[in-house]
Amino acid sequence: MSAPVTRFKSHVRYVFDVPAGPTVSRFLAAVAEGRLFGQRCPSCAKVYVPPRVACPRCGDALSPEQLPVSDTGTVTSFCVVNVPYEGQTMKLPYVYASVVLDGADIPFPHLVDAEPGDVRMGLRVRAEWRETRGPTLESIRAFKPTGEPDAPFDSFKEHL
Ligand SMILES: [Zn+2]
Repeated sequence: MSAPVTRFKSHVRYVFDVPAGPTVSRFLAAVAEGRLFGQRCPSCAKVYVPPRVACPRCGDALSPEQLPVSDTGTVTSFCVVNVPYEGQTMKLPYVYASVVLDGADIPFPHLVDAEPGDVRMGLRVRAEWRETRGPTLESIRAFKPTGEPDAPFDSFKEHL
């Protein structure tokens, strides 16, 4: 009698579509126009970009008012990706960062186009928009350093 099979390797691939819903659809339509906005929680006053249906902290529905936010912001945290993976399209190494946009309270995840050694918390960055845009966050190619002085830690420590 042979030993029972307890494990095996299997390459699994999932392909699925996620409906954006009306809140994110409005946001992505604005992105296609080259603008960004957030929506505020009426309880804690935090501005979410991209907006959500409800505040994850309070559970309250966000105000429907679209609050314009800047396409400049501050790197609050980041990682340097050095490990190749299947389906990878980015040249290694690259930087993936959390950026709190000016006027927002919640970091916005995106790529930073800079040498990994030059990226740091507090780095000021600006979105580099693609000429051809659509309803996708890929309409922003990446964020690039603005050359401004770094933001002081106290200015973004509540947004980590
Ligand atoms: Zn809230």
